[in-house]
Amino acid sequence: MIDVATTKPEILAPGQRVVRLRNAFDSGLTRGLGARQRQLLELDRFLGECETEITQALHADLGRPAFEAYASEIAFTRSEIAFTRKHLARWTRPERVRTPLLAQPGRSFVMREPRGVALIIGPWNYPLQLVLSPLVGAIAAGCCAILKPSELAPATSELLSSRLGDYLDPDWVQIVEGGVPETTALLALPFDHIFFTGGATVGRVVMEAAAKRLTPVTLELGGKSPCLVDRSADLRVAARRIIWGKTYNAGQTCVAPDHVIVHEAVLEPLIDQLKATIQQFFGPDPRASADYGRIVSTRHHRRLVGLLAGAGEIVIGGDHDEASRYFAPTILRDVPKSATIQDEEIFGPILPIIAVPDLDQAIALVNRQPRPLALYLFANDAAVETAVLERTSAGGVLVNHTLLHLAVPGLPFGGVGASGFGAYHGRASFETFSHRKSVLKKPTWFDPDAFYPPYTAAKTRIGRWLI
Ligand code: NAD
Repeated sequence: MIDVATTKPEILAPGQRVVRLRNAFDSGLTRGLGARQRQLLELDRFLGECETEITQALHADLGRPAFEAYASEIAFTRSEIAFTRKHLARWTRPERVRTPLLAQPGRSFVMREPRGVALIIGPWNYPLQLVLSPLVGAIAAGCCAILKPSELAPATSELLSSRLGDYLDPDWVQIVEGGVPETTALLALPFDHIFFTGGATVGRVVMEAAAKRLTPVTLELGGKSPCLVDRSADLRVAARRIIWGKTYNAGQTCVAPDHVIVHEAVLEPLIDQLKATIQQFFGPDPRASADYGRIVSTRHHRRLVGLLAGAGEIVIGGDHDEASRYFAPTILRDVPKSATIQDEEIFGPILPIIAVPDLDQAIALVNRQPRPLALYLFANDAAVETAVLERTSAGGVLVNHTLLHLAVPGLPFGGVGASGFGAYHGRASFETFSHRKSVLKKPTWFDPDAFYPPYTAAKTRIGRWLI
């Protein structure tokens, strides 16, 4: 075993960090509820005291407006912490289940035990929230964790690496910075759970590495989240909420509405409302708006420019500037079926509008794509709502808004099919990092011969009746 007691955390190799966490985990450091509550409080203190630094880092990485940084990274994670702290004692209580006659007398219950040492790998688009929010679940469950933030958000990654250790116990949480080589090295190490947020391509790499050690994984992936607009929808409200969801973080949100499928009877008025909304939100030139973010990297900027080629008529926007990584909110119509944008997750502020003659065709279009992380429906017709809920599959559905279902801690957040598996947020985060251990406790004062050999005819009769 490596002696890490006198070694500074910053010079430990990833393998030594895992050993350090495992030693701490095995020592029982994370078992007590009080200790977990204190770590959660420290995480909250980090978010409160470092708010300015976090906001600056997110601005450096993503040109993130201060309000969006506060709402979706800082406040979101703090409210996850508050919710978890409030309910943790109840969640950890053993859960009694009925003991059948066969096992009587006895007491049966499920107890939650921490999975152990977890690896949490994050993407760049919400580079703080998407490693810290799973960490809330890991700490609550009593797991130690290594965080691997995205190298594509270097300022946030550096901030986490340099400051989080001032708050959290380094025997409990460690940060490893880096990109593909560093993550590959981490994936070769023994973990008890891997929590990955990112794209499907890397998700496969993670799953293959995990399979070698039979390590359980949670995959929080992306995909094309469609937005259905029925003819019964309130078009003004729909347009505001769709544009908000599409331009939040410049469209670089895993659950951003990817494209709109609209009833052809309301195509023109919807487009008018969408155009008007962009003007209201960001003025005549969104480039000048302090409330509009930037694309994370030149590579992603070029990818978005590439998606515009052969992708139909630009209704509004379409202008971009590589030097400042600006990409205007852009609406497309008459998108050819063969266009790349019809298949690839857009992950940027481009919104294709596809008109369909009826609800059946809208549902068929949704079902033709891999199952999405989110499905948005704008309708004021209960029959339409029921049809969409019952005839489509998605990680989550939001009726008459976008993105906001993430803010409901009682709703597990995760994908289905190609958008991933496993879920988190609120109690689901705690459960993800917990093993549900089944326990049956039997007294010894009652030990009839009935179940033991030799299996006589009388015993068999009793046994068959009991079973
Ligand atoms: P990504 O898959 O490229 O990278 C995610 C992480 O994996 C990063 O930390 C990166 O360093 C690491 N990585 C990259 N290539 C690797 C490799 N070959 N081997 C090992 N590790 C590797 O994802 P991204 O570009 O950072 O994020 C965008 C994607 O994430 C989109 O598809 C989006 O929809 C998805 N996403 C999903 C959620 C969700 O909650 N479901 C949230 C945000 C983003």
